[in-house]
Amino acid sequence: MTDKIGFIGLGIMGRPMALNLINAGYGLVVHARRKESMEPLVAAGATACTSPAAVARQASMLFTMVSDTPDVEQVILGDDMASNAVIAGLQPGALVVDMSTISASATRIIAERVRSAGAEMLDAPVSGGDVGAIAGTLSIMVGGSASAFERARPLLEVMGKNIVHVGDCGAGQVCKACNQVLISQTIAAVGEALLLAEASGVDAAKVREALLGGFANSRALEIHGQRMLDQQYQPGFKSVLFQKDLRLVLEAAHELGLALPGAAQAAQLVNALVGQDNGELDSAAMFLSQRRLNGL
Ligand code: NAP
Repeated sequence: MTDKIGFIGLGIMGRPMALNLINAGYGLVVHARRKESMEPLVAAGATACTSPAAVARQASMLFTMVSDTPDVEQVILGDDMASNAVIAGLQPGALVVDMSTISASATRIIAERVRSAGAEMLDAPVSGGDVGAIAGTLSIMVGGSASAFERARPLLEVMGKNIVHVGDCGAGQVCKACNQVLISQTIAAVGEALLLAEASGVDAAKVREALLGGFANSRALEIHGQRMLDQQYQPGFKSVLFQKDLRLVLEAAHELGLALPGAAQAAQLVNALVGQDNGELDSAAMFLSQRRLNGL
């Protein structure tokens, strides 16, 4: 493999995804704001860079896995002409693959700027959590050209299992927003079911166990249900990022003039959770909001 691969954003998700690429034999150049975020990657053989632009100068394909829309804008576009952003160092014909969960409409604008700089961009947000990132079994939903998708596919296959080219630029982010519409309401439904069991004096753990075998089974019942029973809210998927995702869903609905009352209701529970300083807890902590609502 001659080409170097860049990776920017080495948090709960980015770190294991980048490690999987190294373990598959790819040469990585990495950047994170904090030195300690880069250390496990450097120990595994990656080269550390001082800026996103430095990564772009060395890599013909680069991945970003940061937090929110303004972070992707900052990393890829920067905020001034003398920027340290990706766009200042892009090789001609390079491919930028943003795997963060951000706004679909902003993605289309960023991709246009990348195209103007002589490179191409894919949006490739993921589902499957830290567990999927570590195991290399993420679901990856991709927007962009078919040729760019084919170019990135071998690397995406290292990080994920269910990889779908959903459509043009932004389609991956739209798909991820649809994912969060489902996830948020499923987690809320799991919390309500466990509350009903508890309030009725029935063992909620037994209820979960029974429901896992039937039509109500879901990954949320399996994983988040267990976290709720154990009151184990170490992330995982931070509630502050969950709140951001639901904001993206509701902003898209607003732009489209679309009513999504179920997602809006779930968003209120997450708002209350983050508002009470619990943003660093896992998304399963939505159960805390539901408990408080019921005086528990
Ligand atoms: P995280 O642990 O908070 O990591 C985010 C990383 O992005 C950190 O390394 C952070 O750097 C870096 N970063 C943020 N803003 C930046 C900026 N402006 N410039 C440079 N670096 C920046 O979050 P995560 O859980 O890995 O999530 C990353 C993305 O994946 C998010 O969009 C999230 O919604 C999505 N996602 C997460 C999960 C999950 O289960 N965790 C599942 C699916 C999708 P520092 O370390 O220096 O702060």
